[in-house]
Amino acid sequence: MAYDPNNVFAKILRGEIPCKAVYEDEFALAFHDINPQAPIHVLVIPKAPYVSMLDFSAEAPAEMVVGFIRAVGTVARQLGLEEPGFRMLANIGADGGQEVPHLHIHLFGGQKFGRMIAKA
Ligand code: 5GP
Repeated sequence: MAYDPNNVFAKILRGEIPCKAVYEDEFALAFHDINPQAPIHVLVIPKAPYVSMLDFSAEAPAEMVVGFIRAVGTVARQLGLEEPGFRMLANIGADGGQEVPHLHIHLFGGQKFGRMIAKA
């Protein structure tokens, strides 16, 4: 799937749409989800045009992969999620429920999530 430069997160990265940012470095931007599904619901996105984790893991330069993954960890710690724990999620494609075609890691916290995902 080709990257669509008009997706909503590309617009956020270009500053065309506002967001409530919680963290930013050269590799990543993190901001509150507009429609939170948990008491804490933050999205972490790479500052580069990758559709999904599949695309990113295959195509991104090593420096970007490391920088982005480290940023995800930094954001989780900064949000105070290390204890008592949290959930990380990356939806990919139609069956995965991905709505925005720019890689994003969901960080959910502030409640117990149970063992796994809900059945469809
Ligand atoms: P997906 O289903 O693609 O994994 O998740 C996309 C997420 O992006 C959803 O949780 C949705 O609420 C969030 N979202 C969509 N548009 C915007 C927006 O304009 N701003 C922010 N902050 N979040 C958005």
